[in-house]
Amino acid sequence: MFRRLLTTAVAALTLTFVNVGVSMVGAPAPAANAAISSSVTASFPIVRPNDNNNLVRIVQLALGDYGYSLTADGVYGSGTLAAVKAFQGSRGLTKDGVVGQNTWAALLKPLDTNSSGAMVKALQAGLGVDVDGVYGAGTDAAVIRVQWATGQAQDNLVGSNTWAAVVGARAYVHGVGPNQLYRSRWHDYAVNGYMPAGELCGIAQNSSWKFACRGVRDFNAMDAAFKAKFGHVMPVTYWAPSLYRTYAQQVTAYNNYLNGTGNLAAKPGTSNHGWGLAADISTSIMSATESSWLGANAANWGFVRDVSGEPWHYHYIR
Ligand SMILES: [Zn+2]
Repeated sequence: MFRRLLTTAVAALTLTFVNVGVSMVGAPAPAANAAISSSVTASFPIVRPNDNNNLVRIVQLALGDYGYSLTADGVYGSGTLAAVKAFQGSRGLTKDGVVGQNTWAALLKPLDTNSSGAMVKALQAGLGVDVDGVYGAGTDAAVIRVQWATGQAQDNLVGSNTWAAVVGARAYVHGVGPNQLYRSRWHDYAVNGYMPAGELCGIAQNSSWKFACRGVRDFNAMDAAFKAKFGHVMPVTYWAPSLYRTYAQQVTAYNNYLNGTGNLAAKPGTSNHGWGLAADISTSIMSATESSWLGANAANWGFVRDVSGEPWHYHYIR
């Protein structure tokens, strides 16, 4: 189910932004309370009864803006169905409970930095930031990244195209950490933990260990410099998926962290390992000298240690 939805959403978005990516440029600030129906040119993923995902959560939160009080649990059950049908009826739409293009368009409202409330919560759920209903700095930054990543004007006016980018992409690309959308622009809606094989390349010391292709040259250069200095390659064997980590591997790592049998791990779908842009280089195998040399020099090849408490985690940021 997840994979099928994912494919659909990715395809729809790719088509959408080829056609309409710049149509928001110069758009005036949206009226505070108008639905976006009249200006919809983007396409949205379809939400159906019995779905269980972040899209449902966005719908549930957005319905709150119209007075429907639902638990935003992402589960499309009978309560959500009744609310969607009632909403559809109130807008003259077919009361089928399927949230397709027309229902999304009627449901979502334009937002800006002065907005607050349930519709902002829906936006935040889509962005993967804190859901507090306040359009603050975190929301602002995440919207700008989405707009940048999808080729739109970075104006913080959330109109139909920005909504489509948020709803379509963010439901599947979990979380908006530093660089994640920047990287997703580079690989066009690739999904964290589901990187296409063509985006991954083996590193020099072991061709079956994968890293994002564009970072491999720098990784190998860093490894070669390390070897020239210390007589052996960097120890990336410490934990099996030390470089690229699939979604399933992130789930395993996170569960191990939660139950106390593994190191600190990011929430599945949010790890930079899921983009092939992080390398765990063991601090327990390296000598203190090796470890501190690497920490001091890795930035020469575009790697930084940006996770506090994880001195072994090197994130490629070029
Ligand atoms: Zn790591």
